[in-house]
Amino acid sequence: HDDLLRNTLVAATQGLMAFMLLRQAWGPGLLERRLTGRWVLIGGAAMLFGALVCRTLFMVLASDWDPRYNVPSHVQAFTYFIVMAVVLINSMGFVLMQMERAIEQQRSLATHDALTGLYNRAALQDLLPMYGAQARRRGTPLAFLMLDIDHFKQVNDEHGHLAGDQVLKEVANRVRHGMRQSDFLARFGGEEFLAVLPATDGAGALVLAEKIRQSIEAEPVRFQEQGIAITISVGVSFGIPGESPKSLEELIAHSDQALYAAKSGGRNCVRLNSVPSQPV
Ligand code: GH3
Ligand code: MG
Ligand code: MG
Repeated sequence: HDDLLRNTLVAATQGLMAFMLLRQAWGPGLLERRLTGRWVLIGGAAMLFGALVCRTLFMVLASDWDPRYNVPSHVQAFTYFIVMAVVLINSMGFVLMQMERAIEQQRSLATHDALTGLYNRAALQDLLPMYGAQARRRGTPLAFLMLDIDHFKQVNDEHGHLAGDQVLKEVANRVRHGMRQSDFLARFGGEEFLAVLPATDGAGALVLAEKIRQSIEAEPVRFQEQGIAITISVGVSFGIPGESPKSLEELIAHSDQALYAAKSGGRNCVRLNSVPSQPV
């Protein structure tokens, strides 16, 4: 039957369209990031599915429905209207989705380091005041870890820059792995990382720093067929911003001084800045 074939074709086309729309809209982070364009596409797909179901119900249930295409009917009109609407909605959805993806990508590039995927220094400058204000309001200490890879220049010299990059990535991963979700980690310089730990005092920060240091030392970084033994030194400082020490810049400077102490203390170790962080 020619009309049955046509109806089947229309249904198949609609179903395929809806499926392809869903595939376009699907992707990582669909639920976390509520991008409008994606939801518009999903809305379009839902309309197509709805129309498909309605057509099928009509065919099965309405005994007086004339399936012939050359006979005007509400079902044909309904189908055309839906398809037109979906084409419009999807065009808007696609444009919106591409725009939103581009904006998202730009934002991520501006705030993240391309090699390690950690926050960059610009993001640190942006977010640090927020951490400071939060600690001040709650009266909880803020701890800083300044982490630096030991003799990293030698890694580059002996194994090449690609190996150096691999080491940076792996070290970044292990450091990140040891930290809490609420902690902040940025690539501070070439092979230096800065961690900001909210609601953490010196003792807690030392424990974490030591755990991270051990996780780096425990296993050589694999690069091609080689295993490259790596160690890091960590400087720790802490305080309640606004009280003694004071400014966030000072706290960072203190963690840097502690890092120097760790380096001159033989490397592969953790040092706490001895400057009293509370007024005595
Ligand atoms: P120390 O134990 O005192 O920290 O010695 P070090 O060699 O780690 O310190 P130094 O600051 O002398 O050397 C840092 C080196 O890091 C210099 C630079 O070539 C290298 N470096 C910085 N950024 C990158 C990068 O993105 N990739 C690679 N492969 N190397 C980098
Ligand atoms: Mg170094
Ligand atoms: Mg350095």
